[in-house]
Amino acid sequence: MITVATLLGLEHSGTTLLVRMLAAHSKAVAIGGLKNFAAFAYGNRACSCGGTPDTCVFWSSVFREIRSKGNDPHILAALLAAHRQNPESARDAARILVEAISVTSGASLIVDASRDPTWSKLLRYSPSINVVPIHIFKTPMAQLASAKRKQRSLCAEIRKYHLRSRRCRAETSHSPSSITLAYDTLCSAPEASLTRIMDAVGLLLEPTQATNWGVKPLHMIGGNRMKSSTSSKVERDERWSKLLSGFEIALARLGGGATFALNERESRRETRSRERRVIKLGPSGNVRD
Ligand SMILES: [Zn+2]
Repeated sequence: MITVATLLGLEHSGTTLLVRMLAAHSKAVAIGGLKNFAAFAYGNRACSCGGTPDTCVFWSSVFREIRSKGNDPHILAALLAAHRQNPESARDAARILVEAISVTSGASLIVDASRDPTWSKLLRYSPSINVVPIHIFKTPMAQLASAKRKQRSLCAEIRKYHLRSRRCRAETSHSPSSITLAYDTLCSAPEASLTRIMDAVGLLLEPTQATNWGVKPLHMIGGNRMKSSTSSKVERDERWSKLLSGFEIALARLGGGATFALNERESRRETRSRERRVIKLGPSGNVRD
């Protein structure tokens, strides 16, 4: 069984930080987003190393592995791109791709950062794949401040915050091992947050994950580029209080407050349900489903 952690949420909601923390585990590999595979295969997007399917050391091996099984990476890319028209073929393509990544990397955990739940859903139907959806979210104020920095429409951002959160919660509800995590919780208690996630994916937390996650070179397709750092710092996103006007803060609270509360409620529900399983199975019991 291959375990894939699918990171869900909005752009600038902390997914890139979480990817790096998870990928710092010696048995994990981060692939960027499955949603970007088609663009990468056709040369429209690069790997985070700057490479192409021919020049990236990781992805050129994955492409060779796909071909060795009699499949064509470009056909897989086309099937993934046409997931709306033909979801069944896209599911097969996603499974073949994930299996090739698993063989090439030898990793026990594959981390996908597509953010959009559509891609998590595609993998969910494969019996050989254990999908662990991880929904990470910021406060509506922090999310709105990101939008303002990027000069995006604030009203559109609030709407997206609401709609994407709802779809993420629907996706996490399908998995008993799913994780819903506030970005501020990850920053204030990185070890406890990561322990919770690593338990859900069936691995033990390694010390480097919370403290030195910036050093491992990654081959992520289409992800945000984050500079490598040897002194990894995690900070709560509180810049919003300086960036947003009083009116914008009120807009964030009014438009996104209820959504934030629902996300938090889901996180608490998961924690309670996990505690119940630990009590039922005992401290040495397997709570990983
Ligand atoms: Zn690369």
